[in-house]
Amino acid sequence: MRPGGGGPDTPGWRIRVVPNKYAALAGRHEVIVHSPDHDAELEDLGDEGLLEVLEVWRRRIAAQLDDGAAAATLIVNRGAGAGASLAHPHAQLFGTPVVPPLLLDELLEFERFRNRYGGCVLCAEIDAAGERLVHAGGVAAWVPAATRFPGELWLAPSEHEADVRLADLRPLAGAVRRALIAVDTATGGAPLNLWLHTAPAELRGAFHWHVEVAPRLSSIAGLELGADIALVTVDPEAAAEALRAAWPQG
Ligand SMILES: [Zn+2]
Ligand SMILES: [Zn+2]
Repeated sequence: MRPGGGGPDTPGWRIRVVPNKYAALAGRHEVIVHSPDHDAELEDLGDEGLLEVLEVWRRRIAAQLDDGAAAATLIVNRGAGAGASLAHPHAQLFGTPVVPPLLLDELLEFERFRNRYGGCVLCAEIDAAGERLVHAGGVAAWVPAATRFPGELWLAPSEHEADVRLADLRPLAGAVRRALIAVDTATGGAPLNLWLHTAPAELRGAFHWHVEVAPRLSSIAGLELGADIALVTVDPEAAAEALRAAWPQG
């Protein structure tokens, strides 16, 4: 993105999209560099700067889905403990020829809930968040009842919406910026992963797009790998309270 004009690979860019040299898997892998500033994390860009980044995320997600990807998964790895191999703040977008297993699990969960109770499981989860609600607004932030990581935080539009391509990104920018600051404060700067789940190219059932933020306070151990059971030692209500206290007002 180049507000002042100029050719590719010349100075003056603000946000850059580069196809990855080391394609991680079949499909398309892009790196989205958030800023020319080597040290500027997403929350340092301000709401307007972050909004521009989210618009690029969305444009690339749309391009990959239009281009034949079954699903587009956007991730941010921050810190070596979260698998980041490049220090300069960036996101990675994976357009995969199949729906990834985790998204498939979520789609099945939406389907099961709809068959059993009707409606959307994520809307119901936001409504039932209570003490686990960290922030209410156009985009809500809450600690899920069953977390896989201590300090895990989810963000999603309060009004049901399946596909991030249709989203109003302004409230998301504000919520992402504050969430990153709150998680950073509450965890003392732990490495983290963030990912965005949106509806696959062909959505048959229900879905509700969301962002998951997972600080990496403890390492994944045998029970997680051997049984896919997460051992979380922090009570979700207490985690939400800490995040509420750290949530910036401005
Ligand atoms: Zn919903
Ligand atoms: Zn998800």
